Amino acid sequence: MALNKPYRQAKPPTDLTVAANQSVVLSFDDPGDHDRATRGRVAQLDSGRITVGGHVVFDVARREFVGQSETAPDSVHPGLWRQARLNVNHGLFEVADGIWQVRGYDISNITFLAGDDGGWMVIDPLTNGPTAAAALDLANRTLGERPVTSVIYTHSHVDHFGGILGVTDRDAVDRGDVRIVAPVGFLEEVVGELVVAGHIMVRRAAYQFGTLLPPGPLGHVDCGLGSALGLAPWGRVAPTHTVAETGQEMTLSGIRVVFQNTPDAEAPAEMNFHFPDRRALCMAENCTHTLHNLHPIRGAKTRDSLAWSKYIQEAIDLWADDTDVMFASHHWPRFGTDDVRGFLAMQRDVYRWMHDQTMRLANQGYGPDEIAAELHLPDEFDQSHVRGYYGAVPHNCRAVFNRYLGWYDSNPANLDPLPPVQAGANYVEFMGGADAVLAKARSSFERGDYRWVVQVVNHVVFADPANRAARELQADALEQLGYQSESATWRNAYLMGAMELRDGPSRLGWVPIESMAQAMEAEHLFDLVGVRFDPSRFTMGPLAFNFHFTDLDEDHLLGVGRSVIHHRAAAVDDGAVASVRIDRATFAAALSDAAALRDAEISGDRDIVTEFFGALTVFGTAPLVEPRPDG
Ligand SMILES: [Zn+2]
Repeated sequence: MALNKPYRQAKPPTDLTVAANQSVVLSFDDPGDHDRATRGRVAQLDSGRITVGGHVVFDVARREFVGQSETAPDSVHPGLWRQARLNVNHGLFEVADGIWQVRGYDISNITFLAGDDGGWMVIDPLTNGPTAAAALDLANRTLGERPVTSVIYTHSHVDHFGGILGVTDRDAVDRGDVRIVAPVGFLEEVVGELVVAGHIMVRRAAYQFGTLLPPGPLGHVDCGLGSALGLAPWGRVAPTHTVAETGQEMTLSGIRVVFQNTPDAEAPAEMNFHFPDRRALCMAENCTHTLHNLHPIRGAKTRDSLAWSKYIQEAIDLWADDTDVMFASHHWPRFGTDDVRGFLAMQRDVYRWMHDQTMRLANQGYGPDEIAAELHLPDEFDQSHVRGYYGAVPHNCRAVFNRYLGWYDSNPANLDPLPPVQAGANYVEFMGGADAVLAKARSSFERGDYRWVVQVVNHVVFADPANRAARELQADALEQLGYQSESATWRNAYLMGAMELRDGPSRLGWVPIESMAQAMEAEHLFDLVGVRFDPSRFTMGPLAFNFHFTDLDEDHLLGVGRSVIHHRAAAVDDGAVASVRIDRATFAAALSDAAALRDAEISGDRDIVTEFFGALTVFGTAPLVEPRPDG
């Protein structure tokens, strides 16, 4: 993976950006956050560096620059800088009697509860095994060794389960020594986000999290949710128990837990829970110290802000009076019943406000871009935990609109616009040619009108991606927008775009699909076949293939014809052109390389099978800020 790629051409902030950032007043500053983020620290990882096989997974030294100055550099929005300085606090923290968190070695938190059975309950084992193992080791060394006897996955995002193999193993789970609890729908949603859209989502996530940007005042500063993602492959072990109902109770590691099911809030499958005997509340990722995303810019199913708000009210009603401490899957805890209640109430209100005000305007005929321009967080939301360090009001309002009304604003002029390359060529010609557009755009740049510059110069780049001057100007304007963004995800996206306009698309060396094969049902694999099938490269048919999955002992029928596939589970066609005995991993590998079929047992017409797999598209690195080479 091309990590730490030199970003030599990063430019300093313009005078106008410096002035914009210096004019920001942190009227919402809450000095209590510093105490909350550092309270109860009992240990830190000795080196602060987690490695596996010589590869650095996470290194706190890369973030040291954030801790060095209380004042934001001119190239960083002061609100984001404040958040970054809170997120770099790292170590093992005592949250309450018998409850600890390891924070600051991944984007997310891992929480340990000392169970009445002598074991650990682990909540959310981080993104990858090496980091989760380092966190568990730190807890064991500092607090006394305990076996892990239960694990809770709060929700279906990978930074909350991907490190499971760092805290337990499949045998321990199979033996019943470790129970794993997750919300209903967990597995389906894990796969749903990572399989059908997985390839492009990894690419888009690199923009959201800025994974390829070098850390520094002109590069990566923070992710909003946490300082940075740990970079190592994730694992997965299926839950042994699921939570489907609010009010459902379990005793895990000897600790009583009461659950609230909150589907379609921050994740499609998510849950909050309360420990009545410890007066502690876990709000998963539904309430963190940021305005969250109703639609992350990496792409995801749009979240239900109205339901999200109502779940928070329900949690207040169920548990606020019986809670002394609230913690979450990111950021620091809240302490004291009144503080928790106030925090939850404002979180409830911000998701409701975005929902209601977006739809008030939508019902008056405002389109998504107009709503995004119109709505600004009112002054009553004067707490830092509802500021848009991760989500942002403009894209969240677009998400609310999209959830109810879709992508179309109902102006037929926007019903079928020309695609970017063609539109770009036409705009540039109508505006007097590329040089004329760039001359005007440079004037806009001098005036600090960076939003307009990127909107208009984008047409020049798409009309002629070889136009170096256009690429440079576009990169310069994106970069200034990044420096002025309070949202870490916006900053990361702008700076990634600038980098790629200057250097060309970065290449991510890891593709999740094959590594996820063991997590997939055969049905998912056939869903993947469908989205990779290129009918122009396989014109035979209609015909059918039989597949027998040797590791699952399942039969599946794959039909091909009419430029599309169809799939039936538990079906066999006697007229099939071939029958294939194969295991899941080999099948998954064959999606990218038909040569993997040498490990399959094929009767019938082997050549047609090979030809079909050869017609599946191998996804490469999609350009995002310029046309595809074949576009
Ligand atoms: Zn998360």
